[in-house]
Amino acid sequence: MASEAKYKTDLWVDWCPACGNFGILLALQKALAELELPPEKVVDVSGIGCSGKTSHFLNANGVHGLHGRGIPFAEGIKIANPELTVIVNAGDGDLLGIGAGHFVAFGRRNLDIKVFLHDNQVYGLTKGQASPTLRKGEKVKAMPIPNMQDWVNPISIALASGFTFVARGYALWIDDLKELMKAAIKHKGAALLDILQPCPTYNNLYTPDTYKDKLYKLEADKSWDPIVKEGTKEEIEEKLSKAYIKSQEWGDKIPVGIFYVNPYVETYTDTISKLNPLYATIPPAKQSIAKDDGT
Ligand code: SF4
Repeated sequence: MASEAKYKTDLWVDWCPACGNFGILLALQKALAELELPPEKVVDVSGIGCSGKTSHFLNANGVHGLHGRGIPFAEGIKIANPELTVIVNAGDGDLLGIGAGHFVAFGRRNLDIKVFLHDNQVYGLTKGQASPTLRKGEKVKAMPIPNMQDWVNPISIALASGFTFVARGYALWIDDLKELMKAAIKHKGAALLDILQPCPTYNNLYTPDTYKDKLYKLEADKSWDPIVKEGTKEEIEEKLSKAYIKSQEWGDKIPVGIFYVNPYVETYTDTISKLNPLYATIPPAKQSIAKDDGT
């Protein structure tokens, strides 16, 4: 098995001490090593924010894109070369604020891309304002008054948008997070992994102590079965309904693990292949420059 060192760069990792991003980066490097994915076959795409630096610290192809635009960059890359493993590492503000429209449209397409959402409830890079995942009435230390708006629930909106793999991890449970990343990467379709990430510099509400008391694993309940197995309409509706109800749980207890997996939905690139046989026959590296006459 490849070592995670293969996926490290020699750049100084300059996140704040004890930032949850360290755990996310390490889990990702371990996941890629265990899946034995060659760095040249992996593309990491980010937007703007502390999480955006992930592509600098991961030895793979990397795109540090524009704010909120990680998903459209990734979509273009995946459509041009479906053989690549394409991962978006972006923050809650990036994906659910300015990039919210892209997030929803991506779910509808079921492109085979993995979205790892660094969910720290603040805009860390711009000094700790409330992000879309901070709840109404909550106040982190840089805010003069409590949050006036309610939150966007990443799990609920992913389920409603058509993502076919939906899970939540925790940045400091690195082995569990690594396994969730591996499951997301192996899934063929649009995957959201919402990663709860302590930001010790600006978020004094959701700290490791807070999470220690609240987090529990969905898999601990042996009756929890989030994977669609038959693909019938009734089964999909039942699994989606249960996942949605579970996604509303946030308070004294916060669930972590897999909420929903549906392997029965056609991916966007499979749909393109059916509609345009030319797409399926051109070598992947040339698909992005294919012309109508096939040259
Ligand atoms: Fe991490 Fe927060 Fe520092 Fe950004 S501001 S690097 S999220 S601790």
